[in-house]
Amino acid sequence: MTSSPFVLNVSDLLGRDASSRRVTITEAVDWKIEMIEVAHDPPLTADLVLHPVSGGVAITGRVRFSTKDSCYRCLSVTMTDRDASVGALFERDNDDGETYPLDGHEIDVSQLLRDEVLLSLPIIEDCGDGCPGLATGLVTSARSDLNTGLSGDDGGVRTPFAVLKDLLEPEEHDPETEAK
Ligand SMILES: [Zn+2]
Repeated sequence: MTSSPFVLNVSDLLGRDASSRRVTITEAVDWKIEMIEVAHDPPLTADLVLHPVSGGVAITGRVRFSTKDSCYRCLSVTMTDRDASVGALFERDNDDGETYPLDGHEIDVSQLLRDEVLLSLPIIEDCGDGCPGLATGLVTSARSDLNTGLSGDDGGVRTPFAVLKDLLEPEEHDPETEAK
């Protein structure tokens, strides 16, 4: 039977004479958001310090990991080294949901690390200055949208500059005066 490397026995931290202890966890994880996923290689490494506190255990430290980022424009994949700070409280009485649970003499830090890692990620990422631009499929659809907007024989032909002007000068309609 194998137990999760993220489940830590903290019985030594719950006594009166407890002192802080350092823990390092190295493990490949399957965590990801829309276009960014944590890489398996190198695996995620968490350097944590467990501190005894009244009613539980406090954890501080850092987690280092690499991500495979899909560029939001050209969809190419690049690797990025990242890290995130970790700070949380594990306590027996965690009904308020602001802390993590202490179950007997064990804590499971996987939820904490997952939260910190995913919250530290940008929503979108690009591949850098050399990005070739939008992937082919996206360019085609954007162009046909633009053509539809431009092909007007009704006298009200809209140029790209008119569209830009609308974007830059939206103050014709003042929401404050219209609301009254
Ligand atoms: Zn790109």
